[in-house]
Amino acid sequence: MTLFPDMVRTVLSESIIGRAVAAGYLEINVYNIRDYSDDKRHRVDDTPCGGGKGMLMAAPPIYNCFSAVTSDRCEGEDIHVVYMSPRGQVLNDETAHRLASHDRLVILCGHYEGVDQRIIDEIVDEEISVGDYVLTGGEIPACILCDCVGRLCDGVLSDAVCHEAESFEDDLLEYPQYTRPVEFMGRKVPEVLLSGHHANIDAWRLEQSEKLTAERRPDLYAKYARRKAEREAAEAARKKRRKAKKDGG
Ligand code: SAM
Repeated sequence: MTLFPDMVRTVLSESIIGRAVAAGYLEINVYNIRDYSDDKRHRVDDTPCGGGKGMLMAAPPIYNCFSAVTSDRCEGEDIHVVYMSPRGQVLNDETAHRLASHDRLVILCGHYEGVDQRIIDEIVDEEISVGDYVLTGGEIPACILCDCVGRLCDGVLSDAVCHEAESFEDDLLEYPQYTRPVEFMGRKVPEVLLSGHHANIDAWRLEQSEKLTAERRPDLYAKYARRKAEREAAEAARKKRRKAKKDGG
């Protein structure tokens, strides 16, 4: 739900998401909130009560638009309504996976100084931010959300492994990647990647991921290290139980 449908359509009709829509793996419907204004000049905004700068998107056109969305499309489906907002929780990989589990997301894009609080209270399940900065509208954040959630949906990427080995899976950043030529500007592809030894390649990639994550994202690395220690403790306990059973029997 947006005041600038072409901004969203243009972005989401290109590349992988565009192809996934064309192939029927995703369905993206863009609604223009202005079409649902009862005002004869299709106004959708008004001044803030109590004064202050700028204009606010009024609640009634958004509510009318939301009613049209839900009556057109969402009958009997599990829907989750998101308002793109700098006040929301900052989007991350975990949230993207959680959102991908819903049948449908209904995304509200704000503009001007934002939207009347009552529409948030009435229809919104969750506010999501794309980062600690302020953009002019929710359209770019909505495209970011559609892209990162959409690529997790079945059939959108040609190979599910594509997103399993990527940054943030398992709380690690991705290792450095190389392709041909083997030498570029005097810089060579690391020897191990040309060795054909898959165990060594995997070990090198993991080591690089751990190093990068520890340097650049200590917050993420702490989560990774905690989970790794838990996994190792569980594995040690499993081994101990197996040994005790074997010795007993
Ligand atoms: N007055 C609002 C505030 O200070 O929080 C900012 C409004 S902003 C200019 C207009 C719209 O852009 C918002 O309603 C929201 O939909 C969108 N927007 C701006 N920054 C965003 C961000 N970091 N994440 C998600 N949406 C954002």
